[in-house]
Amino acid sequence: MNGPRVALLGFSIECNRFAPPAEREDFAHRWFEGEAMLADARAAAPRMLAEMPGFVADMDAAGPWRPRPILLAMAEPNGPVRGSVFAGMMAIWRRGLEALRGEVDGVYCVLHGAGLAEGDDDPEGTVQQLVRDILGPEVPVVCSYDLHANVSDRMVALCDVFVGYRTNPHLDLRERGAESARHLRRLMGGLRAHRAFRRLPIVAPTVSMLTAQGPYAEVINLGQERQAGDPRILNVSVMGGFAYGDTPFNGMAIIVTATEAEAAEALADELALATWERRHRFVAHLTPLEDAVRRAKESPVPLAFADVADNPGGGARGNTMYILEAFHKADVRDCLVGIIHDPLLAAEAHRLGRGARLTARFNRPQGTLAADDPFSRPFAAEAEVRALSDGRVTGRRGIYANTAVDLGPTAALQIGGITVVVVSRRAQCADPVFFEHLGLDIGAARAVVVKSRGHFRGGFDEFFRHEQIVEVDCPGLTSPILSRFDWKRLPRPVLPLDPDASWSLPARAR
Ligand SMILES: [Zn+2]
Repeated sequence: MNGPRVALLGFSIECNRFAPPAEREDFAHRWFEGEAMLADARAAAPRMLAEMPGFVADMDAAGPWRPRPILLAMAEPNGPVRGSVFAGMMAIWRRGLEALRGEVDGVYCVLHGAGLAEGDDDPEGTVQQLVRDILGPEVPVVCSYDLHANVSDRMVALCDVFVGYRTNPHLDLRERGAESARHLRRLMGGLRAHRAFRRLPIVAPTVSMLTAQGPYAEVINLGQERQAGDPRILNVSVMGGFAYGDTPFNGMAIIVTATEAEAAEALADELALATWERRHRFVAHLTPLEDAVRRAKESPVPLAFADVADNPGGGARGNTMYILEAFHKADVRDCLVGIIHDPLLAAEAHRLGRGARLTARFNRPQGTLAADDPFSRPFAAEAEVRALSDGRVTGRRGIYANTAVDLGPTAALQIGGITVVVVSRRAQCADPVFFEHLGLDIGAARAVVVKSRGHFRGGFDEFFRHEQIVEVDCPGLTSPILSRFDWKRLPRPVLPLDPDASWSLPARAR
């Protein structure tokens, strides 16, 4: 076998400063070391998210190459990664990279970009530093990131091409992986790339960063238009960031990679200015819970209610009861609610069996509920076990399309007119299959409540148009109302928290 030797590694988790720490077991389901990484990347329905599969498929199609997989560690969004767990990963990457010193032609890193580790606000920068320290400044490195990355200076400085997602909900992971492979082949062929970086004092609420419409979409589209008209531009990444990371380098960011430094700088300026001009449009417009209840009862068309503040995709626990309790009290009918993370309740339903009646006690204190969790309060109601599953599904649409997802033992509980899907493994409700595999009919429901901030849009779009989506204002770890958090490290002043935040184009030496 010949062809270029490419080191493969990754660290992919989005960390919410306010959520409990991520442990080693949180990475267990998507921990790919050595050849296991390639095997999963080439599987028909990989367990890993689609960037690495896209990269590997594009490299495989382009001709012979020699992959050198080290470790790709992925987890559902959570709190900061336990320090000892991250140190363990670093040791594996270090060993793997040292074994490849002088024996590798390029590197591809899958890096979410909004990770935190205990004692390290920039673990991705730390990983990239390790790569450079061991392999040197000359080996080409391409890194891909979620557009929710909080971009540090090191992340931009320590790669050759910076590739960020362009779609939110994320539908282009596989494409960005393949794009990364194309850049890496050109770099290994001798191409030199320059990156320009602008960061703005805007910490946009998550719900204001959609890419189908709105201010964020407009800047991304402008960047793509410019790139299409200029062969010097290799990549344009408009990074929205992840507020709840609460780092000193939070803020919307523009990264342009080009074959000429001046082309990169000029376009980065233009896009930063275009973002700043739209700064007052990055706001959250949520529906109060009382109005959501009324609409669930009265709407002539079916509606989707997004519990944006309890989004496991942003590190929340996926178990708050505000909407379920209010809908139950108001006797909302023909309603689906999912997916609620409650392993104890799911286990009880499995023990009792289909058709059994029980008092469904959500968030029992002896469960996963942290004593100091202010949001995941108990709630109890009479229920019947309607359906059971082992929770092993293959995603059908959106971010999980064609990806193997394991929700653990899962149950559908009938509570009055509401069917609640309870799972044992925390995940965001982004794919219709989470309901459908239990025999539940989304098309027949009048109201569907999803624990998801925005990725449900990519999965449930065949049932609900943009106008049929209600973003509900409840308390929670991922509330888009940023004034409710006790920020420790965000740069201040910053919009929308501080109306007086200002910014101007940096002066550039000519
Ligand atoms: Zn994201």
